[in-house]
Amino acid sequence: MELFDMIASRGHEQAVFCHDPVTGLRAIVAIHDTTLGPALGGTRMWTYDDDGAALEDALRLARGMTYKSAAAGLNLGGGKAVIIGNSKTDKDEMLFRSYGRFIQGLAGRYITAEDVGTSVQDMEWVRMETDFVVGISRSLGGSGDPSPFTALGVCQGIRAALKWQTGSDDLAGKTVSVQGVGHVGYHLVKQVTRAGGRVVVADIDADNLRRVSNDFDGVEVVDPSTIYDVDCDIYAPCALGAVINDDTLPRLKCSIVAGSANNVLAEDRHGSALAERGVLYAPDYVVNAGGLMNVANELEGYNTDRATQQVQGIYDITTEIFQIARDEGIPTAQAADALAERRIAAVARVKATHVPTPLNRRRR
Ligand code: NAD
Repeated sequence: MELFDMIASRGHEQAVFCHDPVTGLRAIVAIHDTTLGPALGGTRMWTYDDDGAALEDALRLARGMTYKSAAAGLNLGGGKAVIIGNSKTDKDEMLFRSYGRFIQGLAGRYITAEDVGTSVQDMEWVRMETDFVVGISRSLGGSGDPSPFTALGVCQGIRAALKWQTGSDDLAGKTVSVQGVGHVGYHLVKQVTRAGGRVVVADIDADNLRRVSNDFDGVEVVDPSTIYDVDCDIYAPCALGAVINDDTLPRLKCSIVAGSANNVLAEDRHGSALAERGVLYAPDYVVNAGGLMNVANELEGYNTDRATQQVQGIYDITTEIFQIARDEGIPTAQAADALAERRIAAVARVKATHVPTPLNRRRR
């Protein structure tokens, strides 16, 4: 496929190739849609097979961010960047400072953050050269670890789904099976057990399992291969994508699927298949947006209370999606896309009104 076709076919605005012979930097910034505001999304560092695979990944991830920010009600567009390289061996200060200068050159059209293969430390190097980076440590005025906020959002999504299905959002006495008790899963177990819920967990990491069993009461551990068979109210995938597929679907004994993992549905059709089985699916990018909301708060001057309040709003957003799905007879994943697209279209209409001078606000 031709380069411009790759960019244009899914509505991307821009792709920027960054090369610095001194540091060896090779990076691609993909900007999907900036109708709502500057494109925000992390920088992934990965050893791609070839440049085409790197571009494709950046474009795919950038588009995902457009939908995630729009559904979350943020005034942010969708973007993502990739640095081609090995995150274990190829990192140093100058690479990230060089990268930061390219980001600065985009003049705020793209705001970066950490992602797979990059860390808070890397972003602090990026920050030495650009104003357009978030996801820095609390000590530097940043938002710190996003995981507790992501978990809070997932919990709000679970509560909204319970309310929709049963008329009550009380987690007491409910069983939640949590697949993966890493950063987000740990905090989700904390919230569910605090609310009186029962938790069944699985993980391939013995240390993470030990930590969650030691820290919280009444946590049952099962083998990772049997997590899909657990008789529970809510299945919360917090490890891997594509876990709702032809193999796992017939095994599920839950009535709600809501977790932090991205791309939970192996294919779009699995969203309809869940609905046909009477399982309510709270779309992944909606319920896992708490971390994004938290990090985006840095743009206004980070404030924990404001971030928490915003993340709590995932309850109402999830409910709105269930309502759209019911009213229009579509799967909830499709309803989430519709909500995002309608918000972008509505804001585009508002912005069509000419204003003589730019509004004096940081993000427009
Ligand atoms: P993490 O790496 O800290 O935790 C993932 C856990 O899953 C680990 O404990 C790992 O051992 C476990 N795991 C891996 N394979 C497994 C398997 N086959 N069965 C059971 N457990 C398995 O990651 P995280 O930050 O907690 O994120 C979890 C998921 O949520 C990821 O998919 C991530 O992309 C997504 N997510 C995270 C955030 C965030 O704020 N951290 C935000 C949005 C989305």
